This record gives sequence, structure tokens and C-alpha cells, in this order.
Amino acid sequence: MRFIETRGNNGKQKQEVAFSEAILSPISSFGGLYSPKELPHLGYDFLQKHINSTYKELAFDLLNMLNIDIDADTIKEALDLYDKFDNPGNPVPVTHVKDKLYISELYHGPTRAFKDMALQPFGYLLSSLAQKKQENFLILAATSGDTGPAALETFKNRKNVQVVCLYPSGGTSDVQRLQMVTEDAKNLKVIGINGVFDDAQNALKKLLASKDFNLALKEKNISLSAANSVNFGRIIFQIIYHIYSYLELVRQDAIKMGEKVYLDVPSGNFGNALGGYYAMKMGLFVEKIIIASNENNVLTKLIKEGKYDLRDSKVISTTSPAMDILKSSNVERVLFDLFGCVRTKELMDSLDTDLYYELTSSELKLLQQFFDADFCTKEEDSRYIQEAFYDNQYLMDPHTATCFKAYESCADKKLATIAYSTAEWTKFSPTIAKALKDQDNLSDKEALELISKQAEVSIPPMIRQLFTKTIVQTDVVNKEEIAKEILGFLS
Ligand SMILES: *Cc1c(COP(=O)(O)O)cnc(C)c1O
Repeated sequence: MRFIETRGNNGKQKQEVAFSEAILSPISSFGGLYSPKELPHLGYDFLQKHINSTYKELAFDLLNMLNIDIDADTIKEALDLYDKFDNPGNPVPVTHVKDKLYISELYHGPTRAFKDMALQPFGYLLSSLAQKKQENFLILAATSGDTGPAALETFKNRKNVQVVCLYPSGGTSDVQRLQMVTEDAKNLKVIGINGVFDDAQNALKKLLASKDFNLALKEKNISLSAANSVNFGRIIFQIIYHIYSYLELVRQDAIKMGEKVYLDVPSGNFGNALGGYYAMKMGLFVEKIIIASNENNVLTKLIKEGKYDLRDSKVISTTSPAMDILKSSNVERVLFDLFGCVRTKELMDSLDTDLYYELTSSELKLLQQFFDADFCTKEEDSRYIQEAFYDNQYLMDPHTATCFKAYESCADKKLATIAYSTAEWTKFSPTIAKALKDQDNLSDKEALELISKQAEVSIPPMIRQLFTKTIVQTDVVNKEEIAKEILGFLS
């Protein structure tokens, strides 16, 4: 698989690059993203062949078909990281919740959120590429709370990589913050930013593009890369579980092979949804991908009306903070795939300068062949958490709950829906305690204990241990000071 640029080529960058280049140096012309030049078609036979495969067997064969420039042993070793999940034989359990709704649980990895699905193998891959090239890499990650812990976990003590993770101070849950600030491996640095997630993400994008910063790193013999969700090294691992979940439904006799399903995805930066889109493009039997949002509903407006409108939008802080995002980076890859690089550049330039773009009616029609969308308010979200627990004995986090609204309004109930659960209840316990027991202002620790009792589930050890671990990462800085802080860490 070769990669080309979503906003076209500036005459200085290479015309196309291999997978390894796209993940090590993800910056492309005009601020665009590397995207697959073409995708293979999987077809019925591929799915049928893997009806009884393990997750790793399916993943290996899929990556093989995608024909990336990584040797088979390295791919196998990267996939072995799924052995760290609760049940290595079935890292992604799919559960029936009610009528035609199934939930695919993506949170059974070491940091209890779905970011592990991609970052676990990605971290291994990147470090092994760096070692082979005998180069040192600085990996930057901006997080609203789940990417940070997952990136730190996957890169800790790995060779030839150092990681700096930026998070909005005060913008994460206690558990998420503790997962980051208690990481003590020497190659990791965690920096709190005075600001919101978009500030952290914008700071990261600026650093990646900054000549001065890159030069300062060069003097230290360090190259710069990013572990944000636009890195294709993450996206590629997010295609697999959509296919696996589909096969699970076939195995559970919920559908027959070839029957169409909805994929219902709680979306922020659109990495998860993009993985589903590529799976659909490669021939997975998908009726539509339903984009679930919270009150930051720019994507609902894009998919319903064809308008990406940030003119009066400010980030609203919700109970599903990993989705409190306005500039949903990976949407650009869908635009590119559907409308080409010239039009994508035009639209993205317009978003940069006017904070707005509008699709033509034929473009919107095409987009709607693949996607539908709805959003969920805080009150609705809380009600879905409550109903799922008391009516269906299903305990879920507030991100997962956004899918329920979208399921109700978008899915034709003749077909099955696979909704994705992107975080374990332990990561957002105060919100769940409020929904289930109407208890306000509980700390994470109090809420964890309350829910554990109420739902008769135990708190996993990696979460329980956080509260007694030493805090070693204490820096909180203003945006302007980030570069200095990072260079200080590296010397
Ligand atoms: C990252 C995240 C999302 C959003 O996923 P995208 O791939 O960025 O759309 C949703 N829920 C949780 C819990 C997350 O951590």
C-alpha cells in the first residue's frame, strides 16, 4: 500500500510514500494527511476464510493484504501485544444489549480505553522501525485523557523513542490524570497545559511544523513524529476490529454472512469511524456508519446538512470529554477519498480561513451513502446509562451511551447494529454514579467504589493501584512554554 497526500503535492515532498515513511514522518504537503492511494477488496471469501480465526490471525492476514513495508515477524510481534488484553483469545468481546443492538467492547487493554487497540501494536512497530534505522524519535501526543495514558503505556522503556504527552490541565478525569502523572519511565514526559484539548492539539501541530523546533531536535540527533490519531500507523489497526466484530455477529448467529449491519461509532477525531469506513470500502457488509456525537455536534451538521461550521462554535465541556472536539482531523481523509485532493484542499483551506465549508448537494449525497449521524445531550446521555443498567443489566461509560441515541434515530431496526464501547466504566465513574444513584460530586475513588458495589463488578487492579502510586510528573505550563519545556526534558 502506498500513501499520497490529501491536499495534493507541493513539489518538494515525495509524490508518494511507503507505510513506514507515512508513520515516521506524518507531515505532508499543505498541512494535509497521508492516505492510502488505493485499498484492496476483501470480498466474501476473505470474511468466510476468517470465520473461525482468532483476532491475531485475522489481523495478520488483513495487514498482509494491505501490503505494508513491514516484515512479517515484526507484524506478528506487534500483534502479540493483544496478549496483554483481558482475554487474549478474544480481545474484543461483542455483547448483545437489547433488540438489534450489539456492543463491541474496545476497552479491555491495559489502560481501559479503546486507544489501546491501536496504540499497543503501533508503539511496538514504531520503536522497531526506529531501531532498524538506528534513529532516535521524539513522539508527541496531545490527549483529552485517553490517548495520553495509552501512548505512555505502549512506549514506556521502548528503545529509540522518547515521548512527550500534552494534556489539558483540569480537563481530564482523576483516573486519566493519575494514569499519566504516575508514569515514571525515563523516556516519558507528561506536561499539563493551561487550556483545553484543542489548545494541546494545536500546540502539537505547531511544534510538528515549526522549523526552529525541528532544527533544535536535529542538533540532538532526534527526529520528530506524532502519536495523534491522524497517524496512519494507528488507523491501520482500527480497521481490524470492525471486521472482527462483524464476524462475531455471524458466529453468534445474530446475522448471516453477507447481511448488512450498521456501525455506530462514538466519534471525536474520527479515527474509529475512519477505520470503519475503510473496512466498508474494502467490502465489509455495512449499511451505514452512524456517527454519534455529544453536544459538540459539528459532525452531525456535516453529515445531515453538508456544512462544517465552526464560526460560532466553542468547545462545550460534556460528560464524554474524549469527544469534546470541534476540528475532527480524520474527516479530511474521507473528503479526500470521496472528492479528491484538489477539492479537499479547497475545503480545508476554507475551514482554516473562514472556519466554514459547505459541500455541494451531490457531494453531500455521496457522503450520506456512507454515513448518518446524531448527537446526544448530557441529560439524554445520563438517561441511556441508567436505562442500559437497570433495564438491560449493561454497565457502560458516557461515550458509549452517545451511541444509543444515534441507534434510536438512525438505524433501521430490521438490521443489526454494532455500537462501539470506547471506555470502561472505571474511567468515567463520577458521571456513571450520578446517572445510576443520583450522587453528585463524588471523587473518582468514591464513585468507583459505589459502582463496584452496586453493579457487583470489581475494580481492575491497574485502576485500583493508581491511587497509591507516587506522582512524578508535576509540570503544568502555558502554551508558549511548551517547546522550552520539551527541550529541557531532552537534554
Ligand atoms: C478517543 C475516544 C473517542 C473518540 O474516538 P475517535 O477515534 O477520535 O473518533 C471516543 N471515546 C473514547 C472513550 C475515546 O477515548
